[in-house]
Amino acid sequence: MSSNTVYSFFGAVEKSFDKAAKFTKWDHGVLEQIKQCNSVYRMHFPVKIGENVEVVKAYRVQHSHHKTPCKGGIRFSTSVNLDEVMALAALMTYKCAIVNVPFGGAKGGISIDPKKYSAYDLEKITRRYTSELIKKNFIGPGTDVPAPDYGTGEREMAWILDTYMTMRPGEIDALGCVTGKPITQGGVRGRREATGLGVFYGIRQVCNIPELMKKLGLSTGVEGKRVIVQGLGNVGYHAAKFFREGGSKVICLAEHDGAVYNEKGLNEEEVFQHKKKTGSIKDFPGAKNIASSNEALELECDILIPAALENVINGDNAPRIKTKIIGEAANGPLTPEADEVFISKGILVVPDMYLNAGGVTVSYFEWLKNLSHVRYGRMEKRFTENLNTHILGTIEELTTKRVSEREREFIMHGPDEIDLVYSGLEETMMAATNEIMNCWKSNPDIPDMRTAAYVVAINKVATSYAELGIFP
Ligand code: GLU
Repeated sequence: MSSNTVYSFFGAVEKSFDKAAKFTKWDHGVLEQIKQCNSVYRMHFPVKIGENVEVVKAYRVQHSHHKTPCKGGIRFSTSVNLDEVMALAALMTYKCAIVNVPFGGAKGGISIDPKKYSAYDLEKITRRYTSELIKKNFIGPGTDVPAPDYGTGEREMAWILDTYMTMRPGEIDALGCVTGKPITQGGVRGRREATGLGVFYGIRQVCNIPELMKKLGLSTGVEGKRVIVQGLGNVGYHAAKFFREGGSKVICLAEHDGAVYNEKGLNEEEVFQHKKKTGSIKDFPGAKNIASSNEALELECDILIPAALENVINGDNAPRIKTKIIGEAANGPLTPEADEVFISKGILVVPDMYLNAGGVTVSYFEWLKNLSHVRYGRMEKRFTENLNTHILGTIEELTTKRVSEREREFIMHGPDEIDLVYSGLEETMMAATNEIMNCWKSNPDIPDMRTAAYVVAINKVATSYAELGIFP
């Protein structure tokens, strides 16, 4: 793509979809239906900021209703536009299909710079946006369930919940109208770190495939791998944390104003605290400054994790990228032109709509928790511990041997909510990796992992249409 062509994110998603559709057997009309965004709501609303009235532009796009509710985050950024929200909504459909989360895709966005507003004004904007969604039936536990995305978090989700409950009093499942809430407001433990943890589980599973690693000239496993993470927001921070804890070396962390590099490995929490204190990631003690985030992407490493925004690796800079694996933690960080460069260079791209699905997977767990009105582990924890104590006691009595205290603690432990969420996420990411890899292996003409992931997603969504029928 030349730098003066206007980049369409939705166009890029359509391009990847078309590339994969050729490897499926579905009718042209069904494929066309899957590709389109079913419902698009573009709104303007006034908000009083200080003495002035500001007109705010916002969106909610429901890409697919093959399963309901629709699901997807809400983004606060000046870069929000209709094309971007449509692309992100479409990615949500494919993402949910790949990880077997029974939702259609959606996305929302408000075109503002959240840093320019006080918490009080942001609350007003968020509440007004929510009431617009309620009026048009674009939110609800059975229709459309928002979540955090770039520029939003637990605080905004709590405001959305409160506005919904105020306008829909007495609705018993109201807590399920939004996910990513604070734990004290119906959130689930593990949601905050879910996307970063899912990125780690996904890459770890890929790195555990010996023949794939051999092809890339890498050893099996994530231990000792040199990782660069671009973006130290919620996703990037947690991805870096889990890679470091998993034995990888995070040699570079990049933010919009530059990057820091240390061949021996960086601790993301220390870098984060440094940024909080000084206002910049740069000048971190013991690390080398890298002038720009773009420069950091081009440094030599084993695993590159773009965890910020879309379109950061394109036809221009892709030829200069020197990694072996790219793990798309952000949505759409690579353009289709970059994909072609990496296919020819033999670089493995682990695609966004699979790799960053940890967030929506745990959102699904949160939604189930809200509908069941009970915390995970509450019913079985004590029962499991009592049962395990009994089994262990019987074994010790029969063998007249005693297990160590450490082993005893591990064996007897009944599951807490966090244990169940982490294991549910781990299983989801491992199963999705295997499904995509099997699809890729079964057709040697499929050129890359993204195309294989799309084939898996298209087959699932199209099967839904085929089984449910299309209303005459
Ligand atoms: N915004 C996240 C994503 O892009 C999470 C969506 C959700 O939890 O619904 O996947």
